[in-house]
Amino acid sequence: MSVTQQLHTLKNTLPEPVTLIAVSKTKPNALILEAYETGHRDFGENKVQELTSKFEQLPKDIKWHMIGHLQRNKVKYIVPFVYLIHSVDSKRLLDEIQKQAQKINKRVAVLLQVHIAKETSKFGLDPEELEDLLKLKEKYTHIAFKGLMGMATFTENNSAIRSEFSSIKALHDKHLVSWEKDPILSIGMSSDYQIAIDCGGNMVRIGSAIFGHR
Ligand SMILES: *Cc1c(COP(=O)(O)O)cnc(C)c1O
Repeated sequence: MSVTQQLHTLKNTLPEPVTLIAVSKTKPNALILEAYETGHRDFGENKVQELTSKFEQLPKDIKWHMIGHLQRNKVKYIVPFVYLIHSVDSKRLLDEIQKQAQKINKRVAVLLQVHIAKETSKFGLDPEELEDLLKLKEKYTHIAFKGLMGMATFTENNSAIRSEFSSIKALHDKHLVSWEKDPILSIGMSSDYQIAIDCGGNMVRIGSAIFGHR
């Protein structure tokens, strides 16, 4: 199936409040443009260099989502144009985003990434770190806290995935007063987005089910 057909099929299955991020990492501009021509505007990338070069080459009304691990020294390259950073996983990173955002007088929208998977390799805050960070929220004048992002363990065990997504949904609700209007819970990828939506996710990040395998 073509990108256009895949997007169409997928969008028909997603309930109304769920925002679809088309994860275009490693994929050429031609495929992104094909999705763009259908009216799709939200795209996700996980590497700063690829994100900035695609931003420069592609239409300026694309909403670019940074979904991958972000190093502090690269924050300055994406702050001017990024629509939402999903992967904020430390206070030091937040400090740097605040600093760069202040320089250009922009408010940058972020999600805090929470570690929910069993794998040690996945990045993210634990619930205590999240709570500590949110206590400092007022000092981040140039950051809009929109909600949480998480990645489940890569497993066939759907009940394990469900329990991880339910735990992040509970954390999201616990801190509901911290999120700016229209709070976001970004959970779910090609293999587990249906479970994520079932568990209350309202933003899904889908790559291979749209663009094919990488
Ligand atoms: C690559 C990636 C996705 C999309 O993965 P697919 O399995 O291709 O849908 C989602 N979220 C993050 C953080 C990613 O790096």
